[in-house]
Amino acid sequence: MTSIVKKNKTVDTLENIYALFDTEMAGFPVACAKQCADCCTCNVTATGLEVAYIHDRLGAGGLDDIRVRLARSWQARRYRPAATTNGFALACMEGRDADEEENDPAWGTCPLLEDGICTIYPVRPLGCRVMMSTTSCRKAGQADMPLLALTITTVFMQFVEHLDAGGIYGSFLDLMEYAGKNDLSRSPLPENLNISGTTRNLKIPALMIPPEHVEKTQALVQSLAGMIL
Ligand code: SF4
Repeated sequence: MTSIVKKNKTVDTLENIYALFDTEMAGFPVACAKQCADCCTCNVTATGLEVAYIHDRLGAGGLDDIRVRLARSWQARRYRPAATTNGFALACMEGRDADEEENDPAWGTCPLLEDGICTIYPVRPLGCRVMMSTTSCRKAGQADMPLLALTITTVFMQFVEHLDAGGIYGSFLDLMEYAGKNDLSRSPLPENLNISGTTRNLKIPALMIPPEHVEKTQALVQSLAGMIL
């Protein structure tokens, strides 16, 4: 099992990565506003480290609130990813097709949403943070994401996964339910943990950056590499 010292170090690194992500995305004209929560579905994904981070930062009171919300609203169908972001990169490198997956926003809203506001907003996982649009999704019926923003969010997903390589990746709600039933305050998610429908985080096999964005993301990649490698 990972030592507590290592856990604290990686949790702090994760927080620094989130701060860097917010700085990067501030460069885009984001239309997302308070109570605009169409992307808050039950299909968000997360790494085990991100769940440990939420556990660490919210403490017992915050977790009790999450427990109640999860118990109150149960969506039987959720997106359960067959592969991680780095797993997808690896499949591309090896010329394999990605596994088929089912994902439908109609399966339900996230139970952590209250009156259109996220109740854990400061500590939400990257899978929530990467949802952005430069125009109102409600008006347009879909998100409008610049290709450079898509590249940047993918790079962050790859580095956050790398930070938790060997740990688990899956439905955020599945992982939060596990955390709600198990005391993670003194120990991280066990490395041999097996929750149905989850998969394992991988190290970065190659960054998914198209040639036209390599120069624009060079400084960012160096910053992220300096934080975790
Ligand atoms: S955790 Fe918060 S930001 Fe993420 S989907 Fe749920 S309500 Fe939305």
